[in-house]
Amino acid sequence: MNSPSAHKIIAIDGPAASGKSSVARELARRLGFVYVNSGAMYRAITWLVLDRGIPADDAAAIEQLAESVAIACELRDRDSFVRIDGVDPEPFLREDRVNDNVSLVSSVPRVREILVDHLRRYAVTNDLVMEGRDIGSVVFPETPFKFYIDASPEIRLRRRAAQGQRDRVTARDEADSSRRASPLIIAEDAHVIDSSNLTIDGVVGEIIGRLKLKGLTIAR
Ligand code: C5P
Repeated sequence: MNSPSAHKIIAIDGPAASGKSSVARELARRLGFVYVNSGAMYRAITWLVLDRGIPADDAAAIEQLAESVAIACELRDRDSFVRIDGVDPEPFLREDRVNDNVSLVSSVPRVREILVDHLRRYAVTNDLVMEGRDIGSVVFPETPFKFYIDASPEIRLRRRAAQGQRDRVTARDEADSSRRASPLIIAEDAHVIDSSNLTIDGVVGEIIGRLKLKGLTIAR
């Protein structure tokens, strides 16, 4: 499915703990768009890989699992949820072992192809705010609404610690930026926002200002 969507898509990319989830969720609420956290899909498949006892560096076994498992994307109240192998993986997505292995599992090209296909389907029937690493560069390169949210490594580590999580964000960024398949990059036409010294509302306000400049009609 490569044809441009008739729906509006706002792509928000950036490194781990840059604040993009909070921003994307709030932006979607303000616009009345569906919110999709693509990282949750990569986390879900990583959880299943680990749950099945598959080593995170066994690309062939991971590929086989990704091809055979049932992945269901659901919408509830304009929020997206994934069900994998009939299970709601939400309680497990932030486990340390998932944080530690998600970049490795996400680097398997076939995993990316399968998940990108699922992610694109959301745009068939919905206006979207979708966040991730390759949304503006690979999943929806044709959208004119692309943002890249950054923050200093110190601030990002502090944000994760405040959430009570042990997450080696800089190691994940390094792995996500250096992988061969769809690395984390700043799309050429993305508007970059450094959120280090901004509140969530501040970032959302900047995005809305930019969207208006680009001609998006914002009702509320
Ligand atoms: O956004 P979040 O930090 O939850 O993403 C977890 C991991 O999922 C990332 O570190 C990355 O390895 C992978 N990911 C990805 N492509 C996306 C979203 C997430 O590779 N679009």
